[in-house]
Amino acid sequence: MNKTCDFRVTLLGTGTPIPSPERFGPSTLIEAGDQKLLIDAGRGATIRLYQLGVPIGHLDVVLLTHFHSDHTSGLADVWLTGWLQSYFGDRKGPFRVVGPRGTERLMTKLQEAYAADIKIRMDDEKLPREAVALSVLEYGHDGVVHERNGVKVIAFEVDHGDVIKPAYGYRIEYKGRVAVISGDTRYNQNVVKYGAGADLLVHEVAITRPELMSDAYIRRIMAHHTTARDAGMVFEQTKPKLAAYTHLVFLSGPRTPPASIAELIIETRQTYRGPLEVGEDLMCFEIGETVTVRRLGLAGYASDRGSTGGTLQMT
Ligand SMILES: [Zn+2]
Ligand SMILES: [Zn+2]
Repeated sequence: MNKTCDFRVTLLGTGTPIPSPERFGPSTLIEAGDQKLLIDAGRGATIRLYQLGVPIGHLDVVLLTHFHSDHTSGLADVWLTGWLQSYFGDRKGPFRVVGPRGTERLMTKLQEAYAADIKIRMDDEKLPREAVALSVLEYGHDGVVHERNGVKVIAFEVDHGDVIKPAYGYRIEYKGRVAVISGDTRYNQNVVKYGAGADLLVHEVAITRPELMSDAYIRRIMAHHTTARDAGMVFEQTKPKLAAYTHLVFLSGPRTPPASIAELIIETRQTYRGPLEVGEDLMCFEIGETVTVRRLGLAGYASDRGSTGGTLQMT
């Protein structure tokens, strides 16, 4: 990790269920002190970790926000590819997963589903049993779910719709600095509450065109997410040093193109004037005195980590 920064957040996937090559499934890497935490494991999380030069097996814990498949479909990949005893995997101890109630069942059933692979690789490659073992922590309400060596993670409930429960966001604290990840939610006061004093607030967002709101399917999806105006209100109420979007839900129709990034920003500006970034895969936020934005995807991957070029200072 860059010596000048010991707390950073990298967006591995900023997408949705759309299998886009530009925006992979939702997943966010938190690096704080000596630890690496992954929030959600959407499609392609392993590919992004590989691009960053982060061995997949070197994650300390994976934290789940909720059980929509776009947030979990990369989980078996992170678990099992991280088990391979090669430079890109290399896990030595159990695979640690923290999530709301239901996480234990998900992991146990995955273990059942992949029983043949696990047996084959132990017999054939002699992979260590203890490194494919699971260690799962489930929680059922707001509170601290991970605390070690100065890194504290607090889960807080969010509102992803009446039926989509449980759904949580995470607040990560390290050396007096704070990053908050909203998870999937519509406008919710709990994000404002736990977003207070955040250096970096990463929020989901959805945008469509007014003419598409007559479509019941579009209306339902929009009702599960936060509009740009409402996200702007969350940012305005919490006043982070930097606000950033991830999980960009751009809804379109057969004859109606999706909104543009520029329109997303214009909508956000109706309610929020402060520093704002529209997230991209491999966008990295270094949280020091200020929050510095780096685009690892444009400037090369592992080689760019730790260099000093190409930064944009946000205060
Ligand atoms: Zn969701
Ligand atoms: Zn989602």
